[in-house]
Amino acid sequence: KRVEVAKDEHLIDLTLVDERAIKVVQTLSEAGFEAYIVGGAVRDLLLGLRPKDFDVATNATPEEVKNLFRRAFIIGRRFRIVHVVFGRGRDHEVIEVSTFRAMMDASAAETVSGNEKTSKSELAGKTHVVDAEGRVLRDNVWGPQVEDAARRDFTVNAMYYDPQREIVVDYHGGIKDSKKKLLRMIGDPETRYREDPVRIIRVVRFAAKLGFEIEPKTRAPIQAMASLLENVPQSRMFDEMIKLLQTGHSLASLEELRKQGLHQGVFPILDVVLDEAHRHDGREKFVQMALADTDRRVGENKPVAPSFMLACMLWHDVLDRWQKLKGQGEAPFPALQQAIDLVFDARIGDISGRGKLAADMREIWMMQPRFDRRVGSGPFTLVEQPRFRAGFDFLRLRADSGEIDNTLAEWWEDFSLGDDEERRALIDLAK
Ligand code: ATP
Ligand code: MG
Repeated sequence: KRVEVAKDEHLIDLTLVDERAIKVVQTLSEAGFEAYIVGGAVRDLLLGLRPKDFDVATNATPEEVKNLFRRAFIIGRRFRIVHVVFGRGRDHEVIEVSTFRAMMDASAAETVSGNEKTSKSELAGKTHVVDAEGRVLRDNVWGPQVEDAARRDFTVNAMYYDPQREIVVDYHGGIKDSKKKLLRMIGDPETRYREDPVRIIRVVRFAAKLGFEIEPKTRAPIQAMASLLENVPQSRMFDEMIKLLQTGHSLASLEELRKQGLHQGVFPILDVVLDEAHRHDGREKFVQMALADTDRRVGENKPVAPSFMLACMLWHDVLDRWQKLKGQGEAPFPALQQAIDLVFDARIGDISGRGKLAADMREIWMMQPRFDRRVGSGPFTLVEQPRFRAGFDFLRLRADSGEIDNTLAEWWEDFSLGDDEERRALIDLAK
């Protein structure tokens, strides 16, 4: 049932809406298409929050959308959408425009066996494909808005806002649920988790980020369905984990994972962090402090680097292996290098396409023993490194968590702020 909700009821503050999102809606509607702001942005607006990004849904096809904008790019295969780009450099903005999708009965879709890696040729030319478990591999069949709403995940994520008429279109009681702070899956939850097991992680993320309850029927199948996450490509799981950690509520997200029984065996990186055996040793404290810091930064709208977060999450794993190798008689630097390789193999696996991220993590870690050498020209070289700041922030966290002596971090702080003369004096002091 389509419900149009007027401004006096939804109370959305139009000034929280990005003008470029409004521009995209305007351009599309002037060209005769239907267009709305959709999904998380509408949810956030209803809660009085400023959305961090805007998605637009339309009945125009990706090609039709692309033709209406100067800088627009069709991206994605599993899920084709258009990126409309405004501005350049730091404050550039991307509005994601997706075409209304049809609801497809899994039985009407073409079924392939295997996963998306092995079935590229089988997938060619097909628009809607599911695998043997019912997981959707392709979802590019256009349809009416009512069907587009039904294939979204949660009722609060399935509303459409027309910024020109200032109305919200709601098919699934999203307004009511957002008032009740409830995450309710649209349709049969078990079927929806089967179609896309990542929805299991999404429900955790939204619960933590929004402080919403998970409606009982939506929560019930989570435990039983969790093993389906094994079929999700590693790279998508990795992206989801990063999103969990960057919500600004990463500690709450980890608690929610625990609450839903998803704290072990879902994310190899979190396995180390959330392992009960380590709840009370230094690593727990280190990670807690790192995540609290991340949450604070996100809250202040400051950027957070995934490489820094991950370097923190895995540091004690690196440290354990490093100690062990040194104990076996390896020299410190090569031992650290080896320890890092082992941790990458064990916890990150396939990092193809993430070379930069891995290189940044390695750099932060490899810098750590260099902080111990406070003689000669070493410190002068180190402080000039482009990544010094990240390495130093990491050192600071190690000191704050009690792993190393605070005076070392203080020395480096003074050194980095000092002029040449002060720096030389500090080196004398360290002798
Ligand atoms: P965030 O604020 O974290 O970006 P969001 O709700 O905008 O949250 P996105 O991942 O950006 O989440 O997705 C945008 C919208 O697309 C969602 O609100 C939802 O309607 C739909 N969507 C995204 N992923 C899925 C999915 N796996 N299954 C069903 N619908 C989805
Ligand atoms: Mg979004």
